[in-house]
Amino acid sequence: MPTPNASAPVRLVVMQGDGIGPEISAATLDVLAALDRVLPLNFAFEEVPIGLAALKTLGTTMPEESYAKAKAADGVILGPVSHHDYPPAAQGGINPSGNLRKRLDLFANIRPARSRPGFPPRCGKPVDLVIVRENTEGFYADRSMHLGIGEFMPTPDLALSIRKITRAGSTRIAEAAFRLALRRRHKVTAVHKGNVLHVTEGLFLECVRAVAKRYPQVAYEERIVDAMAALLVRDAGVFDVIVTTNMFGDILSDEASEISGSLGLAESLNAGADHAVAQAQHGSAPDIAGKGIANPASLIGSAGMLLGWLGERRNDTALSQAATLIARALDEVIAVPEWRTPDLGGPLGTRAFGARVAATLQELAGK
Ligand code: ATP
Repeated sequence: MPTPNASAPVRLVVMQGDGIGPEISAATLDVLAALDRVLPLNFAFEEVPIGLAALKTLGTTMPEESYAKAKAADGVILGPVSHHDYPPAAQGGINPSGNLRKRLDLFANIRPARSRPGFPPRCGKPVDLVIVRENTEGFYADRSMHLGIGEFMPTPDLALSIRKITRAGSTRIAEAAFRLALRRRHKVTAVHKGNVLHVTEGLFLECVRAVAKRYPQVAYEERIVDAMAALLVRDAGVFDVIVTTNMFGDILSDEASEISGSLGLAESLNAGADHAVAQAQHGSAPDIAGKGIANPASLIGSAGMLLGWLGERRNDTALSQAATLIARALDEVIAVPEWRTPDLGGPLGTRAFGARVAATLQELAGK
């Protein structure tokens, strides 16, 4: 087993979140602690309050100090939040997820959906795709404006939402998708609703097509979002990288993850030029919160993505190795029916699953 060296600490801020957040965060930290024992990573964790727990003690679900610590850290691990249970912003209810995406300019939400060895995907064919979702504009009216919000009610019987699409936002997310495709199977599918939203989707597609021209080695196609919902069910295996706007990406990624196995496996990274936040694709799952049965693979895998992102930026092989080890350990554990969590039909609880992943990656590192 390699002996960890002393190196500059990797400062990770942990925000547990609401619902199943504390449970899956604890399992994720168990896995990261195990990694730290076998690789020269030198993690320094700092847990900061957010969500309903912070509202009770500090009067807000997103304390400024927690934000400042997230901004100063090397990376953030964010548990899911029950933001639709929060009070209005004036009473302290701020969605930490939207807040971080906006203020840290985390424009790319990278959402893989991958079937695992030994666990049959629901579409009957192997799935290995990544949804590259624009993360700062689109129909997310609660956070897409510089000042104020993009939703309003001119009269009690009329409600309006503004959908924001920019050339810069569309171009940078397309660039992220094509760069990713170069490292994968060289195919990008742009998903849109240009037949109805002529102006906004028109601009989005114009930008993606311009980027596609710069990547002649990548096959490019377009699909309308409603057809795409059906095509994923029919055979999600034919897609490689999917690029789309904010809300379509949110919806399709839940579908793709469930088809590939379970929402409990759905990892994701919110990434910008300078910051990244590991966050599972799913919500706070209040229906199973506190029962110790949530699948933490989603957040463990997201933490792995964060380490991979950091490893690449810093050209740090230990961090990149850590990301690979997490992915391999997750695959090995999920392949064994007795080691699965209940969402995959298995018997293990959240913490026991985390412990199993930790033990497996220690074994893999020792080989
Ligand atoms: P929220 O209110 O925070 O959006 P939700 O229940 O509406 O929560 P999700 O949290 O995304 O939405 O959950 C959708 C379904 O998937 C629920 O039945 C939930 O229990 C299940 N689920 C989500 N995450 C997990 C997980 N990590 N492990 C097991 N089941 C999960």
